[in-house]
Amino acid sequence: MVAPYTAEPSTDFQDAKNIEAFENALTYVASELGKDYPLIIGGERITTTDKITSVNPAKHDEVIGTVSKATQNHVDQAMEEAERAFKKWSAWDPGARANVLFRAAAITRRRKHEISAWIVYELGKPWKEADGEVSEAIDFMEYYGRQMIQYKDGVDVKNRPIENNQFTYLPMGVGVTVSPWNFPYAILAGTTVGPMVAGNTILLKPASLTPITGFKFIEILEEAGMPPGVVNFLPGSGGEIGDYLVEHPKTHFVNFTGSKEVGISIYEKAAKVQPGQNFLKKTAIEMGGKDTIIVDREADLDLAAESIVQSAFGFSGQKCASCSRVVAHEDVYDTVLEKVRILTEELTVGVPESVDIYMGPVCDVGAFDKISNYLEVGKQESRLVFGGTSDKEKGYFIKPTIFADADPESRIMQEEIFGPVVAFTKGTSIDELIDIANNTDYGLTGSIISNNRTNLEKARKEFHVGNLYFNRGCTAAIVGYHPFGGFKLSGTDSKAGGPGYILHFMEPKTVSEQF
Ligand code: GLU
Repeated sequence: MVAPYTAEPSTDFQDAKNIEAFENALTYVASELGKDYPLIIGGERITTTDKITSVNPAKHDEVIGTVSKATQNHVDQAMEEAERAFKKWSAWDPGARANVLFRAAAITRRRKHEISAWIVYELGKPWKEADGEVSEAIDFMEYYGRQMIQYKDGVDVKNRPIENNQFTYLPMGVGVTVSPWNFPYAILAGTTVGPMVAGNTILLKPASLTPITGFKFIEILEEAGMPPGVVNFLPGSGGEIGDYLVEHPKTHFVNFTGSKEVGISIYEKAAKVQPGQNFLKKTAIEMGGKDTIIVDREADLDLAAESIVQSAFGFSGQKCASCSRVVAHEDVYDTVLEKVRILTEELTVGVPESVDIYMGPVCDVGAFDKISNYLEVGKQESRLVFGGTSDKEKGYFIKPTIFADADPESRIMQEEIFGPVVAFTKGTSIDELIDIANNTDYGLTGSIISNNRTNLEKARKEFHVGNLYFNRGCTAAIVGYHPFGGFKLSGTDSKAGGPGYILHFMEPKTVSEQF
């Protein structure tokens, strides 16, 4: 029997010993920077001449390392290896497959600060956020491992005296995981080990901005006993191998987390049955958000301000769950706006070299230019209250930015910015607050800060998001506690860290025998 699942605790950075241990990890990882990393296909290391160079977004001159780039031939090769590995891996005892995850979780736990340090360097993620991310990865492994054990004999269905019925879940075959840069360890791990523990084998394309953190994870899976070919590591450009992976006639499912544009295109491409393909592909597609915090008339306004600041500016607003819209009741609007401004003024922005840095850079020049452009759009469309500037001299830094009096239809209230930018608007009744909150193409997360039970219950029914939070911020979903995924154009709502997650990558089978 495995112990019941509980979430991995965060590191206490009030404790000087933990700060010292984290600093030592940063020093160690600094000594490892600049190396070259191969593809991993069927357990073999393959080095190509064409490379991806990974650079610290906080320091233009700090190269994290270089990584080989896979071609379509490598995808074909990996597909063969993954098909071969599937035959054995799918026949493993499900409990033994789960044990690989539990061992990988234990190794990650032992190397927690080191993994966090890679994320700090490769992505510019501040310490606490990086630590939370590594905890989340451990949670995914512990949680999905247990889920496989739970489903290993299937689920009871009705039997009758003349008939025995069995309902079980089977692995599907080879699938593709395409993971995002914003959680280069946690989401990469979760979206890989979920389908993997179910008995499938995987072609993994990590985000091109953060392949080295991904490589570290594959090494840990290998150390934990994952057989060769079960997960194949294929960094590469979306143009060269992205569509090819999705459209491959032997790809059984695609597990994607990333932008709306890419997600929709994958959804369409995966739907087409290719020559030689005699099954339909499944997809789990998690895309963006335009997430709102509602502040009601009767509400704890300090709690509202803290929740807004943390949800809007934590990791520079680069989470699909980040708060980018606040809809406040007109009676409290000015007060909550002022409280948010005061808290934002205190935030520290810089290279995340110490625990005190609250906000690091944004991820790359593309994000920097896009967000900088939205700063100008916001200045034209609404009233700038704080921030509004950016600086890319040494790294891609954007000041936390607050806009007020935004029209609910304006671009900054409608388009996903994926940066540290939040826009405020006001409403006159709970109905109007919820209407404005629902007025987006997305439906991922949302919060309502209210002390009015009737209004909370109304939001429970009418605020149309996959993850709704009462009296707290709208980020930081915990595996097993807050299954995560959204409605509308936020995706297929596959609920990462949720009770039925691994079933997205399995085929249920009924066997009925008459006596
Ligand atoms: N699950 C994360 C949260 O609740 C966000 C994941 C994402 O940005 O993709 O904050």
